[in-house]
Amino acid sequence: MTDTSTRHIGRIVEGMDASDGAGVRLKRYIARPGLEDIDPFLLLDEFRTERADDYIAGFPPHPHRGFETVTYMVHGRMRHRDSTGMEGLLTPGAVQWMTAGRGIIHSEMPEMESGLMWGYQLWVNLPARLKMHPPRYQDIAPERIPAIEDGDARVRVIAGRHADTDGAAETLTDIVYLDVELGPEGRFTRAEPSGYAGFLILLEGDLHDTAGTSVRRGQLAVVSGEGKLSLQAGVEGARFLYAAGAPLDEPIVRYGPFVMNTQTEIRQAFEDYQSGRLATP
Ligand code: FE
Repeated sequence: MTDTSTRHIGRIVEGMDASDGAGVRLKRYIARPGLEDIDPFLLLDEFRTERADDYIAGFPPHPHRGFETVTYMVHGRMRHRDSTGMEGLLTPGAVQWMTAGRGIIHSEMPEMESGLMWGYQLWVNLPARLKMHPPRYQDIAPERIPAIEDGDARVRVIAGRHADTDGAAETLTDIVYLDVELGPEGRFTRAEPSGYAGFLILLEGDLHDTAGTSVRRGQLAVVSGEGKLSLQAGVEGARFLYAAGAPLDEPIVRYGPFVMNTQTEIRQAFEDYQSGRLATP
């Protein structure tokens, strides 16, 4: 029997092999056949490789419009540059929160030639009224992200609010994004307002919910149900990213780096990009 009265681990999804940028090999969890989005989250990629050939070509200049890209670095270094003149270096534990809004052209290039490159890129949708928001860039150093003890859990509050602590990133939409670490058999609980969608992805170890459904490293779990989610780590502990947010419930029309509400808006984005107007004030 499925318990819908409690928030629980729902669908479990394995990452799909994909390649993006100039040939960076990655695992795609959201924005792939079978899981197009988890409204308001549009895409989730994991890059995790020690083979320089898999990442060295990076993501040369490319445009975005209509949403936000959030890069969270676990290991390695990535240099970011964009058309607003901003530049930043992502180091382990750092977050780059980029509001593409009406348009930005940026590059993301590894600043390392060997060793482990490990990180996540999440795309957060913007509602129709904010899709043409002026581009904005938040370069958040690791030490600026609040790290709190919440019972058994050590929680880095990247965005949103957890245990009376506000996250480091300023967000335009109602979302939460956490990096949670649990020791052996440690517990984590969290409630969300009714109707909020969310997911978690395991970086290390394994977790199960009160119904006994478990999720392990390399898997993403869609969080289903309502109310409170209670999770417990296995004997090796666990580390996971947790995200939840208010669904926008608007039409999603996407084409590559543009995510709008209508085909006409997508055509406009292409025209603006081709005529050099996408990323100009
Ligand atoms: Fe990008």
